[in-house]
Amino acid sequence: MTANDERPDLHVIDVFMMSVKCGNCDQYQTIVKFRKEAEKNVYTYECENETCDPNVTRTLVEVPRHLDNSTRRAEELPYYAADPPPEPPE
Ligand SMILES: [Zn+2]
Repeated sequence: MTANDERPDLHVIDVFMMSVKCGNCDQYQTIVKFRKEAEKNVYTYECENETCDPNVTRTLVEVPRHLDNSTRRAEELPYYAADPPPEPPE
């Protein structure tokens, strides 16, 4: 057995491949926010309906940065609050 050559236990995580469902309203939650922290990326999901108060049912999914395969796509999302872009020098 050459278990050192392969790392079957090591996977990447793609949050866009998984669904987050609310246990209260039984609807799928949608990503509304993405932010980076030192060790992990944090994806915020909320219900988008009249049933749930997002302050109550909001979900935070934390993915270790070295396993996160979604960063590039997440950064393209309109709600990603990156560092403010530099002002054009005009
Ligand atoms: Zn809900």
